[in-house]
Amino acid sequence: MVYADNAATTKTCSAAQQAMLNAMEQFWGNPSSLHTPGQQAKEALQTAREAVARAIGAQPREIYFTSGGSEADNQAIVSAAKFGARRGKKHLITTAIEHHAVLHTMDQLSKEGFEVTLVPVDESGIVKVEDVAAAIREDTALVSIMYANNEIGTIQPIAEIGALCRERKIPFHTDAVQAVGHLPIDVDAQNIDMLSLSGHKFHGPRGVGALYVRRGTPLLTFIHGGAQERGFRAGTENLPAIMGMAAALEDACAHMEENDAHAAGLRDALIEKLSAIPHSALNGDRERRLPGNVNFCFEGIEGESLLLLLDDKGIAASSGSACTSGSLDPSHVLLAIGRPHEVAHGSLRLTLDRDNTMEDVETIAAATTEVVEYLRNMSPVWKALQRGERNYVIQ
Ligand SMILES: *Cc1c(COP(=O)(O)O)cnc(C)c1O
Repeated sequence: MVYADNAATTKTCSAAQQAMLNAMEQFWGNPSSLHTPGQQAKEALQTAREAVARAIGAQPREIYFTSGGSEADNQAIVSAAKFGARRGKKHLITTAIEHHAVLHTMDQLSKEGFEVTLVPVDESGIVKVEDVAAAIREDTALVSIMYANNEIGTIQPIAEIGALCRERKIPFHTDAVQAVGHLPIDVDAQNIDMLSLSGHKFHGPRGVGALYVRRGTPLLTFIHGGAQERGFRAGTENLPAIMGMAAALEDACAHMEENDAHAAGLRDALIEKLSAIPHSALNGDRERRLPGNVNFCFEGIEGESLLLLLDDKGIAASSGSACTSGSLDPSHVLLAIGRPHEVAHGSLRLTLDRDNTMEDVETIAAATTEVVEYLRNMSPVWKALQRGERNYVIQ
């Protein structure tokens, strides 16, 4: 099997597996217990917290472990919204291309009386800093803009948006789930107040993540109970997962440059090969994208069929976000960059990583070219396009 769906999840690396086994064998105590096994677990928890903090230039006490990226996004956004509301600020800013963990949280808040501005992106899938500036109001309680997009891989001007928010004294949250472990991050240099990350997007285990919250930025308790995570997130700590995540992150950061260079080389080769398919188009900016991200639209075909046939050929790919697959709605991200519905349905996301090879790229390119041609030959839409009864959307 060629695995090309690393944006959905990554395979747990051996450093993470070892750390998890170690946690279960040696640090099975409850970190809140005063006896020796408890205190040993507490120390291991602190070591993991230091490692996660180091990876993004934060202080250990600014890291709160969560059950994943979704929980971190929810807590950051709901916290900032409620603190804003106490001071009469009920306006929230985000973008049209966020992950649903952000968008659906914003939807819920808008039902509760908050006003949400969705800043658009241009056709390359990048947010303009001027548009964020123009959206800011007297009553803006939060700006939340993702670091890198999970579908089309575009990297946003986070440092510039951070500087803008700092100047206007508005808390700035970034969903950096796709970026952490893949791109260098420094929360101070980039003026980030809150940041979400998730273990399983950088070869750690799933069901664990973290929320970074800058000292001085108010945070609300999201899960009530014991005093874990300095009282902000109750529940006995999932130490095996936390230690696994920390080990995976240290490993990813130690080899970031070589991993990125490798993935970017594969990405560029695959983009070149898939561009040779007639009436195909790359989604998202060519330069400002994650090292392993390839996302294409092919005119006249249906993304779901493409995926199933690629799976038959031993290739694991995606039509976009794993969270929307299974629904028939086209991707909100592809619609936001201006792809019409009929084309947005024919999308394919291939996300490559350090474990992929140039041979994988050749296999993927050959199989995709073949399957696209096969599906087009059966497609009434494609026939109508070829007979000139319809106009091509993608030239
Ligand atoms: C995967 C992902 C999430 C959700 O993280 P989980 O740990 O799976 O809850 C949030 N945002 C982005 C951008 C993601 O890619």
